[in-house]
Amino acid sequence: MKSLDAFAEEKLAKLEAQSLKRALRPTARYAGAHVERDGRRLISFSCNDYLGLAQDERLIAAGQAALARYGAGAAASRLVTGDHPLLSELEAKLAAFKKAEAAVVFGSGYLANVGIVPALAEASDLVLLDSLCHSCMAAGARLSGARVLRFKHNDMSDLRHILEAQRSRFRRVLILTERVFSMDGDRAPEVELLALAALFDAWTLIDDAHGIGVITPEAYAPLEMGTLSKALGSYGGYVCASAPVADLLRNQARSFVYSTGLPPASVAAAIEALKIVEAEPERCARPLALARRLTRALNLPEAQSTIVPFIVGDAARALALSQTLETQGFLVVAIRPPTVPDGTARLRIAVSAAHSEADVDALSAALKEAAPDLLERAP
Ligand SMILES: *Cc1c(COP(=O)(O)O)cnc(C)c1O
Repeated sequence: MKSLDAFAEEKLAKLEAQSLKRALRPTARYAGAHVERDGRRLISFSCNDYLGLAQDERLIAAGQAALARYGAGAAASRLVTGDHPLLSELEAKLAAFKKAEAAVVFGSGYLANVGIVPALAEASDLVLLDSLCHSCMAAGARLSGARVLRFKHNDMSDLRHILEAQRSRFRRVLILTERVFSMDGDRAPEVELLALAALFDAWTLIDDAHGIGVITPEAYAPLEMGTLSKALGSYGGYVCASAPVADLLRNQARSFVYSTGLPPASVAAAIEALKIVEAEPERCARPLALARRLTRALNLPEAQSTIVPFIVGDAARALALSQTLETQGFLVVAIRPPTVPDGTARLRIAVSAAHSEADVDALSAALKEAAPDLLERAP
């Protein structure tokens, strides 16, 4: 189709002109935060494998055993024949970990959010979204058909104003936020937010994608979702909730009902990861300590999580800086709009338990050399 190709080419040319075109770069991952690209070994500061568990031999062995015993795929939705017994073991572990009554495992974190929100909110309801919420929370909110309003990032007085002005006009209100914001690494004021929600009889869903395993929550929300694919080193999504809410989601979250269950190997690996998280608190504390080592060295605001944003501003410069670091053996991917707001292109540095102190020190030295002007600007 000529018009279809022309449509695609025109859109791509526009992205290219703005330094916003993205491209896949085949990247093999190995132990010790090492990756291989274009035949070169690099130390990755761009993986979300915060505990180094994706390469852990215990997860690999658990996955291999499940693969050999149960096969490669789940073969159906969980409500048909895809509800492998390993899933209830994983859900029991997740619920216990989050001090919740129940957990529901989804195909991915993205699928969890686009399923949960529409199952809980509809046209007569209001969904309030932190302005920096992940794309899949916004997608879930839009899909629900509810009125969607954004509050200023982590701004509880803005949230309060919106609730004061809007609460009485809607039957139900659902507030969406993240425990750790994926591109900024800062944390939601969860205690304050939950108190505000209670005051206005609003429900809260916290996306814990970047928290589980590496950040200790100050408080748990009635709805806690996340992914098995970051610190837990496997694949899949989940939500923890009360028993009736979990049961409702199993019935009404479309991305749960109409999508195939996780492969048994992913489930087995996630179970093993949760066992390791419980047994090895030193491992779980390590990435945050390393992130703080990095922010101290660069004189940046103290890291609140394993994610350190190095704000560059201009998208083309962020790309160039990323390329400079790559020639020095570091993989630090540039994050550009629309993933982050215009004018805030950045290097998103993700620190892992698999890094050594020397890895972190080498990266901070390279950044000081490559972008001294950006560091002077830092507080
Ligand atoms: C990665 C991420 C997700 C999606 O999880 P997947 O399992 O990768 O689909 C959801 N929310 C946030 C905040 C994330 O960073």
